[in-house]
Amino acid sequence: MYGYDVAIVGAGPIGTYIAGKLSKKGFDVAVFEEHSEIGNPSHCGGLLSSNVEKIVGKIGFMHYAKRARIHAPDGTFLDIGNEEPRAYVVDRVNFDRELARIAVSNGADVHIKERVKYVSGSILTTTLNTYRVKVIVGADGINSLVRKTIGAELPQIIGASQVMARFRSDDAERVEIFLGEDVAPGFFGWVIPYDENIAKVGVASYTKSYFYLQNLLKKLKLKPLALQFGGIPIGFANRTYWKNMLIVGDAAGQVKATSGGGIYTGLRSAICAVKAIGNYLEGREGDLKAYESCWKSIIGKELKRALYLHKIYRKMRDEDFNRIIKNLNDPEIIEVINKYGDIDYPSRVVWRVIRKKPFILKNLGIVIRLSTLA
Ligand SMILES: Cc1cc2nc3c(=O)[nH]c(=O)nc-3n(C[C@H](O)[C@H](O)[C@H](O)COP(=O)(O)OP(=O)(O)OC[C@H]3O[C@@H](n4cnc5c(N)ncnc54)[C@H](O)[C@@H]3O)c2cc1C
Repeated sequence: MYGYDVAIVGAGPIGTYIAGKLSKKGFDVAVFEEHSEIGNPSHCGGLLSSNVEKIVGKIGFMHYAKRARIHAPDGTFLDIGNEEPRAYVVDRVNFDRELARIAVSNGADVHIKERVKYVSGSILTTTLNTYRVKVIVGADGINSLVRKTIGAELPQIIGASQVMARFRSDDAERVEIFLGEDVAPGFFGWVIPYDENIAKVGVASYTKSYFYLQNLLKKLKLKPLALQFGGIPIGFANRTYWKNMLIVGDAAGQVKATSGGGIYTGLRSAICAVKAIGNYLEGREGDLKAYESCWKSIIGKELKRALYLHKIYRKMRDEDFNRIIKNLNDPEIIEVINKYGDIDYPSRVVWRVIRKKPFILKNLGIVIRLSTLA
């Protein structure tokens, strides 16, 4: 039987990042990936905050995303952003492959086309072999096998559909967001330009995301080139470790409910996982509890706030979106958004805007519906 210190299930960005860091510390690490290629199939818009660049460097970089245009259901829109690069667009396939390359060059074994079928204590069984391991990391995405094994659950997963399409943009550094009950119930639609001609166009919604994506494509007169489906966790897992196993990234639901973005929050949690696993393997800790306390202290609060904002957002109707976009279209407020806006910490700017202009919420049906919020 083969042996490893750490077996990581899933060669997504979070799994390979952990593999790279742990192998650099001298541990024997294996990553198991069910697909035959790292990064494929991709199901990501590739829009990352500059905070991600600070963790992994400029890998997969395509261009900065400096501005956003948010479209209300009535056709009006709000332009935010300026020349300051606060987010950037990556080629997710290259991004994932570069993290895998770093892991391999640090000494990790990456086993492609080898699906993990079963994990139990220190035994991991794949479609090809059985391994004896000391730690098992579930970085295996929304349908995580490791999450099920440790008896944890995600509150909810919503559907997301995305295409690559020809999209001629007058500003390739501007992302478009589409709101509305008929556009993306409970979430939103997006256009993320890759360059002046190609963009990723997607919709996440509580129902029929593909149907709503087709509507958006018709509205924008776009023809799809390649279709991608995925799921976005709304809310994080009730437990993220058990004895020698932990779950991280999408597997643990470490995703912002406001935007569906999971790379930054997953990486921040991965840093906690690396530390806790190192201490455990070196005998300084008896279990991986420190992992859970660590990620909760770093991003737990913001994930909870994002979930709260998402619950409010879900209750909004078209007239609320129209009114809010109209009210936000005020130079003083746009200045606040541009100064404090951070896609990883959306609550920071929301409270600032409300404090500056409390009337934004006034007279909106949402205020009444808020009182019924669970
Ligand atoms: C349509 C869409 C657009 C998105 N856009 C953005 C965005 O713009 N910015 C952003 O930050 N986030 C975005 N996200 C979220 C982001 O893609 C995820 O948060 C991120 O991929 C999570 O990384 P991960 O490594 O945890 O999981 P994943 O990337 O899902 O990787 C999990 C890996 O595990 C493998 N696996 C699963 N089970 C097994 C098994 N039993 N054995 C072996 N291998 C297994 C899978 O094949 C996969 O490769 C988007 C998500 C969707 C659906």
